[in-house]
Amino acid sequence: MQIVQQMAMVFNMDKCLGCNTCTVACKNIWTNREGAKYMFWNNVETKPGIGYPKEWENQDEWKGGWVLTGKKSSPLKLRVAPKWLELANLFYNPDQPEMKDYVSDVGTYTFTYEDLHSAKEMKQQPVARPKSEITGEENIKPNWGVNWEDNAAGTNVTGQWDVNFDSMNQQEKDAYLQYQDSFMIYLPRICNHCANPACVGACPSGAAHKREEDGVVLIDQDRCRGWRYCVSACPYKKPYYNWRSGKMEKCLLCYPRLETGQPPACFHSCPGKIRYMGPILVDQDRVVEAATADEKDLVAVHRSILLDPNDPEVIAQAKKQGIGETFMEAAQKSPIYPMFVKWEIALPLHPEFRTVPSLFYIPPESPVASVLDDNGLHSAAGENSVLPTLENFRVPIKYLASLFSAGNISEVENTLLKQLAVRKYRRSVRVEGKPDLEILKAVGLTEQDAIDIHRLLALAFLDERFIVPTTHRELDRDTSPFMERGFAGFDKMNPLKMKRREYMHIDEQGDQVI
Ligand code: SF4
Ligand code: SF4
Ligand code: SF4
Repeated sequence: MQIVQQMAMVFNMDKCLGCNTCTVACKNIWTNREGAKYMFWNNVETKPGIGYPKEWENQDEWKGGWVLTGKKSSPLKLRVAPKWLELANLFYNPDQPEMKDYVSDVGTYTFTYEDLHSAKEMKQQPVARPKSEITGEENIKPNWGVNWEDNAAGTNVTGQWDVNFDSMNQQEKDAYLQYQDSFMIYLPRICNHCANPACVGACPSGAAHKREEDGVVLIDQDRCRGWRYCVSACPYKKPYYNWRSGKMEKCLLCYPRLETGQPPACFHSCPGKIRYMGPILVDQDRVVEAATADEKDLVAVHRSILLDPNDPEVIAQAKKQGIGETFMEAAQKSPIYPMFVKWEIALPLHPEFRTVPSLFYIPPESPVASVLDDNGLHSAAGENSVLPTLENFRVPIKYLASLFSAGNISEVENTLLKQLAVRKYRRSVRVEGKPDLEILKAVGLTEQDAIDIHRLLALAFLDERFIVPTTHRELDRDTSPFMERGFAGFDKMNPLKMKRREYMHIDEQGDQVI
């Protein structure tokens, strides 16, 4: 057992308002500058839809993530070109989104907001017209953007290319895409700070790396040569090319904030309080196992590589490895381990990409409140119940399974049933005055679990949602140089195989050397 420290996250999709406060917070701090305007390290998509950049989930198109090789010695390979082809294509990398996939055929654009203040008096309201940020031309016709499908706008058309419908036949798909009768959900996305990051595996310059003290995946701006293989390899398309600096950039999990014990800006600003963050302990020796499991077992094996921070054996091993007490105490208080492992109410996004994400989602039950029928009864509810049953959920389970469990329907049903059981338990307490413990038992939860889940999902204060240990960089620098960075990226095909500190150390001058 080799324990590594990782900051991890949970997003509760039922509570997302689609307000994009998170997007604006990140944009204001990190990407409101030339060369970065088209980048949204945090974005909130409406599903169904093809998102930002267009069709990012379609790996036949973009060739992101890892695939199984069937070989025991090297079980995983990047779907993107092999290293020799990467080298041959250094100056022409075909597998990456273009500007039109992110923003529009006409490039980045703004609006003539000044017209709203300075227009002459006229009969109709002045309007702000779209204006190219590149040429200054006005009245251009933008045809895509980070939030183009907001609130299902146009997804009756674009939804045709949403890969999460692939398990359905055309008739089913067409039925769901009639927006007014169907469903929509918000999907907030940031970099997943994966345990098996494809961006790190693909980087020819050794610039993309995962730091040891918290598992944050970063791109070293000095080392980056702008070859852009990280964006090709990342199946979530979360690294971005800065055309002004010629370097790649990505979400850095607001690490300057983390180091001072504060949650990232997009977490802190979220009015829906959907976001949770805390440290977890990952068994690095078993990350390969989690990344190479059969599709139906991906979530279960992923759960099994997270170590219980209250287990005496884990505590002893952590001490032996020099993991600090501050981090351990935070891991014990963290809401992430119970949500993902103990209660099994959260799931990783597209585990079939095999990057082993550190961000998990509580899939939506919505709408929980069902409509009243002509008789004043809750017609969408199950028999003898005012709450819906799985059969009459509006969001199709197959769709959620495609998003969160590589198509394994029972994993999604499990998380939804647990959420429903907690709701029914709370109703039994508040309305009927008699706690229904049977409903909890049926899904493997105790009454204390239900109380804790309800507290965390409905009532928790900021200091319960975010457990961020401060970092002792002065200690880390001696003992934990950057990890998972090979010799210019070419010595190892698979970052998982690298043993931390084997390839990097700090010399007498304090420089990182190989
Ligand atoms: Fe890398 Fe994973 Fe982030 Fe993509 S989502 S940039 S693979 S760490
Ligand atoms: Fe942006 Fe920080 Fe949120 Fe990452 S964690 S998306 S850098 S605000
Ligand atoms: Fe708003 Fe939070 Fe959802 Fe972002 S994640 S859209 S801030 S509710």
